[in-house]
Amino acid sequence: MSGRGWKIYAAIAAVAIAGYQLIPASGWWESGWQMAVGYLGVAGILIGAHRLPRRDRLPWWCFAFGIGANVTGIPVSIYALDVLGWQGLPTPADPFFLLLYPACGAGLAVLIRRREPRTNWTALVDIATITTGIGLLAYVFVIKPVTVGQDIDMLGRGVQAAYPIGDLLLLALISRLLRGGGHRGAPFWWITGSLSAFLVGDLAWVVVGDLGRTGAHLESIQWVHRSIDMVFLVAFVLFGIGALHAGAKNVMAAVAPQPARLGRVQLVLLTAASLIAPGLLAVQLHQGHGRVTDGTAIVICCTALFLLVVIRMAQLVREIERQSAQVAELARRDELTGLPNRRAWNDELPRALESARRAGRPVSVAVLDLDLFKQYNDAHGHPAGDRLLKEAAAAWHGELRKADLLARYGGEEFVVLLPETGDDAAREIIERALRVTPGSQTFSAGIAVWDHSETSDQLIERADEALYAAKNAGRNRIMASAAAPHAVPPLPR
Ligand code: GH3
Ligand code: MG
Ligand code: MG
Repeated sequence: MSGRGWKIYAAIAAVAIAGYQLIPASGWWESGWQMAVGYLGVAGILIGAHRLPRRDRLPWWCFAFGIGANVTGIPVSIYALDVLGWQGLPTPADPFFLLLYPACGAGLAVLIRRREPRTNWTALVDIATITTGIGLLAYVFVIKPVTVGQDIDMLGRGVQAAYPIGDLLLLALISRLLRGGGHRGAPFWWITGSLSAFLVGDLAWVVVGDLGRTGAHLESIQWVHRSIDMVFLVAFVLFGIGALHAGAKNVMAAVAPQPARLGRVQLVLLTAASLIAPGLLAVQLHQGHGRVTDGTAIVICCTALFLLVVIRMAQLVREIERQSAQVAELARRDELTGLPNRRAWNDELPRALESARRAGRPVSVAVLDLDLFKQYNDAHGHPAGDRLLKEAAAAWHGELRKADLLARYGGEEFVVLLPETGDDAAREIIERALRVTPGSQTFSAGIAVWDHSETSDQLIERADEALYAAKNAGRNRIMASAAAPHAVPPLPR
């Protein structure tokens, strides 16, 4: 629909909802009006869904089906009551009313899945925590009263309990939708607004029902019960508006997984949810002078909440460990070439010398420095110089053996660790690297075989001296350091 279409639809819906307060005082008028607004909502959803790409339509169809069934429950309920004279619970309308929950639940589940294709475990734990806390309140104040002590059979009780359970399911899914990432345009808020309106309407009836005589009196006042009905009418059409809005096509857009965060609002909500069970226990202890009416439910809820908090803590700790491992890895890697950097080299070299000492095996190091690289930069520009450094690193790496370690020592200077390698073999390997240097560039290199007694610094210093000798001798060559005077390196076996 064009940019204006949804506005016209919203205006018609607003007039229809406001008009509900003005219709004649008759049950038939009220039901007829509710149905008209309800089917307006369904029509809006279906038209909006039809304009979306085929693969994006499923959640909207679920919503249309759930709301359509719910609206159809209205005439069924009137028919059962006024024509069939149906008394008692459940009524034939209950299945229609109840279909709202699984259908909208399925639509929301598909929507959430499409927005975040990867399972978000921290979000699931958060939602489970909130739902467990509120679920305890729902059980104590709504589910138990409708299922216990009423003069209705098991089926009737089950059906009565299904409404608050359905509300809990919706609440969990709405919280999950809000907790996740993803595009939050107007249709996103209209969907959440609509579903929240259903919850608010149900809650209003629960409150009125709990008020006893006052509640019955309130319910008999026309504008009061019509105002509560209007909340449901708003719920019906908000979905339609959401579906017709041009932004509806973005609601399904997938987002990359979000890093696990624990914002202030989230923390407050989780704390509040976790305190519901002990809070309720305190209230019941106080009111019952030491006697608790819902001990079992409170114990189950407390246990679940403790476990969820522990799981959440474990998730956060694991995330911190993962991130610190990532930071440690980044700190050891050269950004440009992806090679280990000087910090990593300084860790590796003493380790390699120690294992060579223990095994009584030779080990060599080579220091490579690109020749006249300043000129290359001046001629081709710094970015081209960067590219060359990257390509050279990759090319040299390809000529080394698996056990060898190439690191960027700094600038255009690289170092190679060659375990189990003496003078000649080291020279051969570095010569291969020299031949594959890209961009007609060359390097000079100094090689030093460890004398089995000098320190890492002394070894590097000797390789560096050999490198300078190579530079002084005209560049594009490899020179080996004379063995340190005080020791003779063992030859490879
Ligand atoms: P020599 O043969 O004597 O080593 O000459 P050279 O020009 O290579 O040596 P010098 O030390 O005078 O210059 C090194 C140059 O390396 C200067 C600097 O701009 C360049 N260089 C160092 N690090 C980088 C880098 O990360 N990217 C680029 N593009 N150039 C770099
Ligand atoms: Mg250089
Ligand atoms: Mg240099």
